[in-house]
Amino acid sequence: MSEIRTIGILGGGQLGRMLSVAASRLGLRCHIFEPGAAPAGDVAWRVTNAPYEDEAALREFALSVDVITYEFENVPTSALDLLESIRPIRPNRRALAVSQDRLTEKTFLNDIGLTTAPFADVPDQAALEGAIAQIGRPSILKTRRMGYDGKGQVRIGKDGQADWTGAPSVLEGFVAFTAEISVIIARGADGQVAAFDPGLNVHEGGILRTTTVPSGQPARVSTDAVLIAARIANALDYVGVLGVEMFVTPQGLIVNEIAPRVHNSGHWTQAGCAVDQFEQHIRAVASLPLGDGKRHADVVMENLIGDDMDRVPDLLRAPRTQVHLYGKGEARPGRKMGHVNRISG
Ligand code: AMP
Repeated sequence: MSEIRTIGILGGGQLGRMLSVAASRLGLRCHIFEPGAAPAGDVAWRVTNAPYEDEAALREFALSVDVITYEFENVPTSALDLLESIRPIRPNRRALAVSQDRLTEKTFLNDIGLTTAPFADVPDQAALEGAIAQIGRPSILKTRRMGYDGKGQVRIGKDGQADWTGAPSVLEGFVAFTAEISVIIARGADGQVAAFDPGLNVHEGGILRTTTVPSGQPARVSTDAVLIAARIANALDYVGVLGVEMFVTPQGLIVNEIAPRVHNSGHWTQAGCAVDQFEQHIRAVASLPLGDGKRHADVVMENLIGDDMDRVPDLLRAPRTQVHLYGKGEARPGRKMGHVNRISG
C-alpha cells in the first residue's frame, strides 16, 4: 500500500466533495482548503476556511497532509509556491499553468501536434480589430484566464459590433462541429493510463446539460479521442484525472480545452464503471494502482441546475436513476446543485 493517508484538496465545491467521499472509501481522508462556502466540508476530515493569501493557514494545511491536489484550477501562484515547498502537488504545476491560460493551453496543444480552433492573442481592446481580420467571423472572444461555464466569453457575429471582454483574451475561430465529446483519462505516477469511454456532451448557455455514453460516435473517432487525451497526459507527465473536451468535425477532432482535474462530463462514471473518475483520481494522487476504465452500463448524466431542484422528488422515484445532490444552500439560476445518472442499458 502507499504511504499516503491524508490528501489535501484545494477547493471545496462539489468535485472536492465527491473526491472526499471516494477517498474515504479507500480508507483515506481529505483536508479541504477553501476560501468560500465549502460543500465538500460536510464530508471531509478537516476544512480550512481561509483566503489563498493566508500563509499561516496554507502552511498548516500543507503540513497536515501527505499530498496536495485540487478541484479548482485558478489557485494563485503565490499559494501554490508556498504549498509546493512543503508537499508535492498532483497533478503538477505545468498542467495547472497550461490549463489556467487559454493562450498557453492552445499553444501547448499545437506544439504537441494537436489541432485547436484557429486563434489569435488579443492582449487589449486595441488589438481586437486586427485579430478579427486574421481569424474572421463568426468567432468567439474568450478571456485568457478565469473563464468557466461560458463565462468571460463574447460571441462575435457575422457582422455588427464586437464587444470587449474587459480582460486579456484570445479570439477563436468558430468551429462548425457535429458533436462535442470529452475523454476523462487517468494517469498514474508510473505512466500507466486508464481512459473512460468518450461521452457526448450537450451544453445550454455555455453550461453542460447532459453527457451520454456511449457517445454514438464511430469507433475510429472514439479511438482518436482517447489517443489525443493520452498524448496530452504523457506530454504533461500528468498524475491524476484529466478531462479533455473536443469538437467532432468532418476534418477530425479539435481540442477545445483541458481540465486538470475530475470533470463534470465524467460524472456518468459513478453509475457506469466499477471505479469512477473520483476514485481514479484519488488512486493516482495517492500512488495506488489505477482501476480499469471499463464501462458496464449505458448512462445519461444530467446536471441539476438552479430550479431543476424542484424535480428532485420525482427523480428520487425514477427507476435506475442515481441522484447526487451537492448540499449547496440556495438554488440560484445557473448554479450546479446536483446531477442524476440514468442507467439506460
Ligand atoms: P468553453 O468555455 O471554451 O468550454 O466553451 C463553452 C461552449 O461554447 C463549448 O462547449 C461550445 O459549445 C461553445 N464553444 C466554445 N468555443 C467554441 C468555438 N471555437 N466554436 C464553436 N463553439 C464553441
